[in-house]
Amino acid sequence: MQDCLFCKIVNKEIPSEKIYETEHIYAFMDINPLADGHCLFIPKKHAKTLHDTPDTALADILIAIKKVVQVLDIKDYNILQNNGIIAHQAVFHAHWHLIPKPNKNEGLSILWNPRSSDRQEEIASIIREKLSPTK
Ligand code: 5GP
Ligand code: ZN
Repeated sequence: MQDCLFCKIVNKEIPSEKIYETEHIYAFMDINPLADGHCLFIPKKHAKTLHDTPDTALADILIAIKKVVQVLDIKDYNILQNNGIIAHQAVFHAHWHLIPKPNKNEGLSILWNPRSSDRQEEIASIIREKLSPTK
């Protein structure tokens, strides 16, 4: 897509520190890492979010993340994938962060605010109904 930063990286119009690629995906180092080794995995074909991303790329991305974790022998890490402005997506070409967590002060910090919900059962039944294999 024109004017998409990550499409330009895939097309080599903007330089990147490449680490891996397949027919469907491209992986490179993050320019502003939260920790040493912070890297990004993206579909080669433009997709704005996870749910726009073709299944072939989705499969390759998780497998590629696993390979990199194993190659670097990372023990603690987070996979982050933001969709939408409120959810902190800044680049609107879907991407998966692999963020090593070497210690408490580096890597991803998470503010986790659990609260009660009286809609969990209702939502679960909607999902079961819509995803039922008999439908
Ligand atoms: P988001 O908040 O959209 O999930 O994260 C976007 C990520 O892309 C950030 O971690 C940011 O550092 C990274 N990023 C933004 N621009 C560039 C760039 O030009 N090159 C590289 N390698 N990473 C980038
Ligand atoms: Zn793009």
